[in-house]
Amino acid sequence: MSSELLDRSCRDLRDQIAGGEVSSVEATKAVFEAIGKYEETIGAYISTFEKEALERAGEIDKKAAAGEEVGALGGVAVAVKDNMCTTFGATTCASKILESFRSPYNATAVEKLLNAGAVIVGKTNLDEFAMGSSTENSGLRQTINPWDTSCVPGGSSGGSAAAVAAGMCFAALGSDTGGSIRQPASLCGVVGLKPTYGRVSRYGLVAYGSSLDQIGPLTRTVGDCALMMNIIAGHDAADSTSVDEERAPVCDYLAKLDEAIGGLKVGVVPEFVAGADEDVRRAIADAIEVYKGLGAEVIEVEMPHLDYAIAAYYVIATAEASSNLARYDGVHYGHRTEEPSDYIEVYSKSREEGFGKEVKRRIMLGTYALSSGYYDAYYLKALKVRNLIRGDFTNAFEKCDCIMMPVSPTTAFKIGEKVDDPLKMYLSDIYTIAANLSGIPGISIPCGFDGSNLPIGLQILSPAFSEDRLLRIARMFESTTDYHKKRPVIVD
Ligand code: GLN
Repeated sequence: MSSELLDRSCRDLRDQIAGGEVSSVEATKAVFEAIGKYEETIGAYISTFEKEALERAGEIDKKAAAGEEVGALGGVAVAVKDNMCTTFGATTCASKILESFRSPYNATAVEKLLNAGAVIVGKTNLDEFAMGSSTENSGLRQTINPWDTSCVPGGSSGGSAAAVAAGMCFAALGSDTGGSIRQPASLCGVVGLKPTYGRVSRYGLVAYGSSLDQIGPLTRTVGDCALMMNIIAGHDAADSTSVDEERAPVCDYLAKLDEAIGGLKVGVVPEFVAGADEDVRRAIADAIEVYKGLGAEVIEVEMPHLDYAIAAYYVIATAEASSNLARYDGVHYGHRTEEPSDYIEVYSKSREEGFGKEVKRRIMLGTYALSSGYYDAYYLKALKVRNLIRGDFTNAFEKCDCIMMPVSPTTAFKIGEKVDDPLKMYLSDIYTIAANLSGIPGISIPCGFDGSNLPIGLQILSPAFSEDRLLRIARMFESTTDYHKKRPVIVD
């Protein structure tokens, strides 16, 4: 990343655009210059909208010049994961089955960004239908980690994380069903927040596992993450699972961000973390020392059911996916096979041709887990395990304010290293999945580098609807360390 314009935080950039010191057109052009330079190597985007973005930036500049309100993200160039519906461009979910699908409406989160004055530069790559941990399952393209072009960016929001890390946007939206915001954020050295289930509307987010999916921001700083949350959080009448603001009020996440929390109690689960790579364990231990230095007390908590999280998740997520993906039938949406010999073939061939290998695997696993005779043994049992894991968190949060652990057991792995071994890939989700099963928020913040200079993320988990405190805890670390300031040198 070269241009110093690109180093600015969304907050500063927005204020400078509003104050007429920097033009949105200039900042957006810098973003497209970076895209021109690095996109061929990184492959973060499925689509970009240069002409429209520059036009919109021009409109924001005019507003600023006329002294009009530009919005909380006025003129700032952002990206959106391509599993969120937009009326502009296609909404592909990185799947051949939706390659030319155009949505008649915007997802609520996207609409909120636009209302806040954001300039949307493009839609980012992902594992097909958000199923994966490396973005290698994309049916459309490969995304590369900006820190090491032989490595994956993580997934499934790999395009969003890589774009933010490479300066090809100032912030992005991702979605997290089992770690898809936090894990790529960790592997690409940026900040990623999965909000509490129900905090951000899922309306217009193409469903994968509906009881787990949540939209959230990927940014370079905790402050920008708070700013994005101020824009996207809140109740939405179009999503019945978004939570009533009287029950759980939305905060001004920026207001007290810089106030440190006194008497912070940090929970740790030593035996659970023992399986992570040594570099990762060392970085997490060092990060916890930083918190101790800031006055935090560290408490060991017992979470006996975490070991079963992966098994439960891959039953529940695939069961929900098998049901959600039934709508792609060659009739309602997307790809339809040519010249079917009968109506059954309209369904079977359209699906066979449109879905990739991993998506088919999950539809079959989920259908199996839900089928008569197996429902009780697999699906119902997984739901019971989910309750036990929730209970583990409830008990732990009686003793501590937050829990810290790695995001991923390893740093970015090599392209091709795990893609042919699904179990190996699933196991890499060990630290992120429990937050989705429990509905609680989790953040990944940069906390170090391994011996090959690949970024490591610290995961902080906190009780449901405590994003304000979670962001403040994250900010405490960021304001005393420099890890978030280091940017990748992209070898193009
Ligand atoms: N890696 C997990 C999966 O493959 C999580 C993906 C996600 O959060 N969308 O299901």
